[in-house]
Amino acid sequence: MDGQLPRDIIEYQLIADQARLDLDIRRGGLELSLTLERETAEPLGIEVDAALFDRVRTCDNHCEFCFIHQLPKGMRKSLYTRDDDYRLSFLYGNFTTLTRFTESDLERVVTEGLSPLWVSIHATDPGVRARMLRNPRGAMSLRWLRALLDNGIEVHGQVVVCPGINDAAILDDTLAGVLDRFPEIASVACVPLGVSRFNSEAAMRPHTENEAAAVVDLVEAWQDTFLIALGRRLVYAADEYYLLAGRPFPALETYGEVAQHENGVGMAAAFEARYRGRSGAPAGGPGGFFQSVDGAPAAGYRAPRAGTVTVRPRRDAPVTVITGTYGERVLRPLLQGGVQVMAVENRFFGGNTAVAGLLTGADVTAALAGASPLRRYLLPDVCLSGGRFLDGVAVEDLPLPVEVIPADGAALRQALLVPAPS
Ligand code: SF4
Repeated sequence: MDGQLPRDIIEYQLIADQARLDLDIRRGGLELSLTLERETAEPLGIEVDAALFDRVRTCDNHCEFCFIHQLPKGMRKSLYTRDDDYRLSFLYGNFTTLTRFTESDLERVVTEGLSPLWVSIHATDPGVRARMLRNPRGAMSLRWLRALLDNGIEVHGQVVVCPGINDAAILDDTLAGVLDRFPEIASVACVPLGVSRFNSEAAMRPHTENEAAAVVDLVEAWQDTFLIALGRRLVYAADEYYLLAGRPFPALETYGEVAQHENGVGMAAAFEARYRGRSGAPAGGPGGFFQSVDGAPAAGYRAPRAGTVTVRPRRDAPVTVITGTYGERVLRPLLQGGVQVMAVENRFFGGNTAVAGLLTGADVTAALAGASPLRRYLLPDVCLSGGRFLDGVAVEDLPLPVEVIPADGAALRQALLVPAPS
C-alpha cells in the first residue's frame, strides 16, 4: 500500500485513510498494480482478518501467577499465546509489562498517538517486580512507563495481587511508588490473581476473606491519599475483592470514568446503574480475559451434543439468567418477578474461577441438563468468542436454546421486558 507493507491494522488504517492510494497486489501468481481514487469517507473495500499482519510479540516473562500457564492442555492454540505486544494493548486493552518494549516502539507510539496503553505494574520495587515476572528485565522496564507518561501517552496500570507475594506492605510500597514516580497515570486497578485447578505453582493461592478485606482497606486508604495529592482516586480494587470480603460495592461515582470496567473494576456498580436505567453509566465493551483471541474451534474439546429440543419458549415465558457464581451475587439482588439466576460452577477451570467471562460450554451444558424447556434462558455474550465458548462448544450445541445478550444492565432490562424508568 503506497509502497509500504503494513505491519498491522494500525498502519493499514493510517495508509488506507488517503484519497489516492497505490496498491500492489500479489496473489496466487497474479501481480497487479492499481491506483484507487475515492472520496475520503468511502470505504476501501478491503477486509482484514487479523489485527497483526506480522508476528505477535510474545512475552519473555514466566510469571508464577500467569493464567495461561494454568490452562488445561488441548484447548485451541491461540489461547496459549502469551502476548506482550503494545499494539494489542492499544487495540484490545491487553496489559503489557514493557519488558520487550524498545526505543523504536516508543517512537512509534508517540508518533502515531497510540493512546491509551495498558501496563502491568505488579510492584514498583525493581527486585520484587523482576521476581514476580521471573525476568531480570522486569526490574527496569517501568522506565518505559515513565517515558510514555513524559510523552503525554495515557496509561492505565494494573497490579495483579498475589497473597504473600505483593500484597500488604509490598502493595503499600507499590502505591507509594506510583504516587512518587508515576503520578500522571490515569488509573491503577488492583485485581486478584486467578488460580485454576491446573495451577502447579505452590506459592500461588486464592486470597482468604481477611486478605481480600485488607486489600480493600489498603486501596481505599490510598484513594484518600491520591484524592488529597492529585485530586482523583486513581487506584481501585476489583469488584471481586468486594465480593470476597463480603463488602458492598462502592457507589458508581467513586470510580471516576470507570476506565477499568473491562478489568472487573466498577463493573457491578455500572451494571446495576444501567439496569436501573441511569443514563451516563458506562456499558463497557465485550471485554473478557481472551478478548483478542479468535473464535476458532478446538479439536477435541467439543462437548458431546446433548439431545435436540423442539419446544421454543414463548417471549412471555419465565426467564432464567445464566451466569458465573460471582455474577449471581451481583444479579440476585436486582432481579424480581420470578426471574431466576442459574449460577454455573466453573468445573472446567476450577480453583477460584467464578467470573461469567470464563464459563465454558461443558459447564453450561451440565447446568442446563434437565432444566425446563419452557423457560427463556439468557446468556451473557462475554463467555463467547465467535459464537463459541472457550472450550470450543458452539452456543447451538447447548441442550436448550439460549438468547445471547450483551453483559450489560440495560440489555438485560430490555431482554426481561422491564420498562425503563421514566
Ligand atoms: S507477562 Fe502475562 S502472559 Fe507473560 S508470563 Fe506474565 S502473566 Fe503470563
